[in-house]
Amino acid sequence: MVAATTAVAVATSAGAFVDKFPLTGAYTTYAVHADGTPDYVTDSAASGTGWATGVKTVNGRISKTPGTDKAVPTLLEPAKKNGYATGNVTTAELTDATPAVLDSHVTDRSCQGPADMAKCPTDTLAAGGPGSIAEQSVNHKVDVLLGGGKQRFDQKVTDGRYKGLTVTEQAQKLGYQVVTDKAGLKSVKPGKPVLGLFATGNVPVEWTGKAAAVGGTDPQRCVTSNPNRPAATPSLADSATKAIQLLEAKQKAKHSTQGFFLQIEGASIDKQDHAADPCGQIGETAAFDRAVKVARAYAAKHPDTLVVTTADHGHTSQIVPLEATPPGLSSTLVTNEGQQLKVNYSTNTPGQSQEHTGTQVRIAAQGAQAYRVLGVTNQTDLFTTIREALRLR
Ligand SMILES: [Zn+2]
Repeated sequence: MVAATTAVAVATSAGAFVDKFPLTGAYTTYAVHADGTPDYVTDSAASGTGWATGVKTVNGRISKTPGTDKAVPTLLEPAKKNGYATGNVTTAELTDATPAVLDSHVTDRSCQGPADMAKCPTDTLAAGGPGSIAEQSVNHKVDVLLGGGKQRFDQKVTDGRYKGLTVTEQAQKLGYQVVTDKAGLKSVKPGKPVLGLFATGNVPVEWTGKAAAVGGTDPQRCVTSNPNRPAATPSLADSATKAIQLLEAKQKAKHSTQGFFLQIEGASIDKQDHAADPCGQIGETAAFDRAVKVARAYAAKHPDTLVVTTADHGHTSQIVPLEATPPGLSSTLVTNEGQQLKVNYSTNTPGQSQEHTGTQVRIAAQGAQAYRVLGVTNQTDLFTTIREALRLR
């Protein structure tokens, strides 16, 4: 099992589950240029490809090589062949880069649905390719797919045996049960694969507050709710809990001695960092932490489970002294301790999307092969850690 988030948290409470892993290290996340030379700041496509395939690639590419643009096997593919159940859970669109690196291969991360293929001419069905990320994810028969991105699955397939159907209808033909809310997710039964589409785009965030501003904000308490988040939306922890139940039930029904491989992504930690929204970002970190709690509770009863938690790259937010007058955007927050905490965002001009950074990020683990995260490693080493834990051949 692997749990991934896409940003470094700016603050975690003392009781955080992400802080409870016994083994912890740091890893480098750089991407490469087409000629193999380093590109020091990665995006989520290249970084996800790094750990999912063991091969570094160019920014924007999904599980294909940097120069020749050839598909590279992902951990999910041999895991399936070796009899593991598989799952992919996210708060982003299911076709966004981090989920996509496990269950698809495309030239560019923008090729999310059949109508989005402009940057992937050789991947289209018409060109004899595997199609969009949405199509490939259901063709891979991943047992559990839970996240946002309904708009991609509502697009119509343009060629091949499912031509004229939406990707959702294609999924149903392939045996998927399709659910769109918390009640649907709760009532779903094991036995058939599950596609959960809980939002048109990204799943709405859990917390709200004022965005950072030039010169700072008045001290603010984050609001731990979001009026634009429908009550029927499952939390990341809800999705993680159900995914583990479904994957375990599948293996029990098969009398399989193999377990499962599951990625859980708290995607909007990154997205709200780009938007310089400290409350959105921290709320998603707290939601991710509750999903880590679910994973660790499972591992406590199944100690042969590898649980890894990490970020796929660094990001812009920094805690700075209250007396600092930093350039760019900042916000002062009132913490649970009743203190003030200033967060600064200065990796791009105010008004632009804030940028990732090239820093090392934390990787922490417990269980089988977890010692491999110790020290300073490379993102591609996580591929080997998971491959060895699953004993993939
Ligand atoms: Zn990002």
